[in-house]
Amino acid sequence: MNPVSNIEPTVREIFELALKLDEGKVTTYIPELAGVDPDLFALSICGTDGRTLNMGDTGHMFTMQSISKVLSYALVLEYYDDETIMERVGVEATGEDFDSIIKLDHHKRPFNPMVNAGAIAVTDMIISRFKDEALVKSLDLFASVLGKNEVSVDEAVFMSEYRTGERNRAIAHLLKNFSLLDNPVEEVLALYFKHCSVQITTSDLACLGATFSNKGCPASSVRQVLKRETLQKVLSVMLTCGMYNYAGQWVYDVGFPAKSGVSGGVLSMVPDKMGVGVFSPRVDDKGSSPRGVLVNKLLSERLNLHIFAC
Ligand code: GLU
Repeated sequence: MNPVSNIEPTVREIFELALKLDEGKVTTYIPELAGVDPDLFALSICGTDGRTLNMGDTGHMFTMQSISKVLSYALVLEYYDDETIMERVGVEATGEDFDSIIKLDHHKRPFNPMVNAGAIAVTDMIISRFKDEALVKSLDLFASVLGKNEVSVDEAVFMSEYRTGERNRAIAHLLKNFSLLDNPVEEVLALYFKHCSVQITTSDLACLGATFSNKGCPASSVRQVLKRETLQKVLSVMLTCGMYNYAGQWVYDVGFPAKSGVSGGVLSMVPDKMGVGVFSPRVDDKGSSPRGVLVNKLLSERLNLHIFAC
């Protein structure tokens, strides 16, 4: 693989092409997100050697939203065995909207941890394991995987979703009804919304992707921050379920693991090569950024990055 500097002209061309796309709408069901400038656009790529390319508004911080589901799932995989996790959440794509009011699979558990129902079940497991330390433990893991000393929560976005998130509240109550939550609904939702409100930039996302593509080791260090087994599992679920009801088309067209969020962020990673972070607040009806999808599609095509590329 070329070092990232060699791919810069191609990436610049892709950035300019995606900039012309203005499909989608800024998310409004979380009121605080409605005020974001729709024209913001940022793209970062980080190679496994730590070299980074940054284009556009890469200094702009946004909230992770569903991209945080990747890390909360990684956290439970680090601390629970497979059998225990599988009692609470499966690994099958739903083919449905990210906030679908739960449909349980035939084992009576949410389909996967990348949709809201599954991530809320996973969040409950984090609270059961770490009790009062659950938020601190989560933020520590988020920071170390992002190669940072600390991360912060956007309290305005958090409060906005906590006050208005009745659909997620309904999902959590249904999970509780099916004995899939051990902790109080409001406590689980508070931590789930905090995870969603962690602030990042595209360059943080690219570093996170690079850590994943570098077998759990941030490019700038030799410290392993996630077990290899955890990565293998997280990446498998990202590949098959990360892009919600667009997941099959994504694997077909793009062919490497990714996760999107309704704030407009898209995280993706190319095994052994690079991490990619895109941010553009306009999202489609599946909750993914059209510019983010296009960037990844073009990167895959032009640099031959599909995991099954011939
Ligand atoms: N906080 C959002 C929710 O639960 C995350 C959804 C997303 O980013 O897809 O509705």
